[in-house]
Amino acid sequence: MVLAQTSLQPSEAAGGAPDALPRPIVQADKLSLVYQATDKPVVALSEVSLIIREGDFVSLIGPSGCGKTTLLRVIADLERPTGGAITVAGTTPEKARLDRLYGYVFQAPALYPWRSIERNVMLPLEIMGLPKAERQARARAQLELVGLAGFEKKFPWQLSGGMQQRTSIARALALQPELLLMDEPFGALDEITRDHLNLHLTQLWRRMGKTCVFVTHSISEAVFLSTRIVVMSPRPGRILDVIDCDLPRERTLDLRETPEFAAIAHRVREGLKEGHSYDD
Ligand code: ADP
Ligand code: MG
Repeated sequence: MVLAQTSLQPSEAAGGAPDALPRPIVQADKLSLVYQATDKPVVALSEVSLIIREGDFVSLIGPSGCGKTTLLRVIADLERPTGGAITVAGTTPEKARLDRLYGYVFQAPALYPWRSIERNVMLPLEIMGLPKAERQARARAQLELVGLAGFEKKFPWQLSGGMQQRTSIARALALQPELLLMDEPFGALDEITRDHLNLHLTQLWRRMGKTCVFVTHSISEAVFLSTRIVVMSPRPGRILDVIDCDLPRERTLDLRETPEFAAIAHRVREGLKEGHSYDD
């Protein structure tokens, strides 16, 4: 009997147990997305195939306008692909959304100024219909996780940009999602705050063991945070390279000074350079 081996991962092909790899949380097969803009169609994604496994921290990196947000929104069922197939946690993106399997952190914190940060974190739980005591317990626990214990009663405008973004991460985590989707959450922050939040996020990820998909256009942020880095081309967004970022799971900022870190950053930079189109 001839077995079709082409779709197997190397460890499976070598005879490893089929369950040796963590289960796929996102499985995209030749995804395309064309926006029907008023003047002419915009091809935002072209034949994107990708597997993201449970516990992965995957960064999507590429130049502005290459389709990173679009890909994240397709995973979140906020956009429908025009071609190809995608599953999220083994089901359709729509079912994953309705079952609240993911939390989404937007580029801007998007907090309501008239609600305390605790009540901002509680809002999606209110919409879910959870009892007040549980809403409050979850909000407090998540705010503590992101280092905001003691700030529960503050209003967003009383906090720094970094603290506001940590609040929006707490709000996404309060849903206890399997998957955390983050779209350049630290893009608007100064470098020192960003370093601090990167350290915080990597610790949080290690403790929670959740799957994260993180959009950035910072090479060092991608290398520091990720287990794998997906390098995307300028529009139409295609995948140019998927880089294993096999640095130790426990990461401190000093890691950025090591040759291993520099080697991965170099490969990301080369990938981005290769994809650069001078027509843009
Ligand atoms: P990125 O997040 O990498 O900067 P986006 O996914 O936001 O890129 O956008 C990819 C391309 O699709 C861009 O050229 C953008 O202008 C275009 N685009 C995004 N959203 C829409 C939309 N709703 N209608 C038309 N074009 C869009
Ligand atoms: Mg974007």
